Amino acid sequence: MATNKKPGNWRKRTLAVRGGQVRSPFQETSEALYLTSGYAYEAAEEAEARFKGEIGGYQYSRFGNPTISMFEERMALLEGAPVARATATGMAAVSAVFLSSLKTGDHVVAARAMFGSCLHVVEQILPRFGITHTLVDGADTAQWEAAMRPETRLLFLETPSNPTLSLVDIAAVAKIAEKGGARLAVDNAFATPALQRPMEFGAHIVIHSSTKYIDGQGRALGGVVLCHEDFLEDHLQVFLRNTGPSISPFNAWLHLKSLETLDLRMRQHCENALRVAGFLAGHKKVTRVLYPFRPDHPQHNLARAQMDGGGGVVTFDVSGGKAAAFRLADALKLIDISNNLGDSKSLMTHPETTTHSKVAPEARASLGITSGTLRISVGLEDADDLCEDLDQALKVA
Ligand SMILES: *Cc1c(COP(=O)(O)O)cnc(C)c1O
Repeated sequence: MATNKKPGNWRKRTLAVRGGQVRSPFQETSEALYLTSGYAYEAAEEAEARFKGEIGGYQYSRFGNPTISMFEERMALLEGAPVARATATGMAAVSAVFLSSLKTGDHVVAARAMFGSCLHVVEQILPRFGITHTLVDGADTAQWEAAMRPETRLLFLETPSNPTLSLVDIAAVAKIAEKGGARLAVDNAFATPALQRPMEFGAHIVIHSSTKYIDGQGRALGGVVLCHEDFLEDHLQVFLRNTGPSISPFNAWLHLKSLETLDLRMRQHCENALRVAGFLAGHKKVTRVLYPFRPDHPQHNLARAQMDGGGGVVTFDVSGGKAAAFRLADALKLIDISNNLGDSKSLMTHPETTTHSKVAPEARASLGITSGTLRISVGLEDADDLCEDLDQALKVA
């Protein structure tokens, strides 16, 4: 391994392009893809020394891999985090944070508005190990405070949340965690480090599904945990090494290279989303539009304070309930019907019957999801084409 240029005081856009790069003796300009499971040693003595940790170097790709390390280092630089570990999926990252650090008797406080599989981990899997939880309305800081117990170890939230784009005041919840001797973990998949860096507001752990905007083109699954050295040493490292939710070097390479255009892409996602939200807000068949950077969003000031852009997701209600929502979706000629998000292609989903179909009706209602709610992951197409497609589909609805 040669010429590892040092970041020094490089700015974020430079870090996104060059941060973490380690060149091989071939001096390749683009980061190399090391598709290898194992590593050879010059001598038995070297193998012994590496296993003892006396010298650095890779041993096995479940523990570490040069391509994966470059992705981790670049993510850490972008989030302003001391260390990062990549995982096979976003859910592997979420599960690793919970299962590596919690034990029987511990308590978790989490915002009710969270990704469906995260809710499953908290409500179904953790209780089997005697780990209890309290779900709160994430936007209400007093509820976080009231839910704290002496045995609370982890606070978990997603902001903006899926699909109603409600926000949580990261700094306020981080203070509550700190006071209670617990850690705050933030799922930053919707905003990405291009728009929001939770550690700047006191979060202890940041979690990503890099499947979404970091890949940005709907190709490969991946996840990342960003944390401090003590969490890595005391909990995460040994858990990841021995349970094995490792990312493929190929997927890590895709996501590493995608970071080079993350900032550009996120700015265009935001610009397109704001345009689409504006178009929808002016349409007579649309009864509600949710987008953090619109002045009519109930937490607009908080959005401006902790985000650099509103993100690529717009959620709205069409009058006429499920039938009208389905007619609209079925009439789309450009935007695809898909529950994924963060793709360069615009995607629309009906949360009630897809992503949130397993959530109890009362819980769905409390999250603000109605039969007429539709979520658009606004892509990178021309915003005029997206608005025209929605316009013709709204006529059918
Ligand atoms: C997609 C998503 C996840 C899960 O990520 P996978 O890569 O699909 O495992 C977790 N949180 C949020 C907010 C997501 O959007």
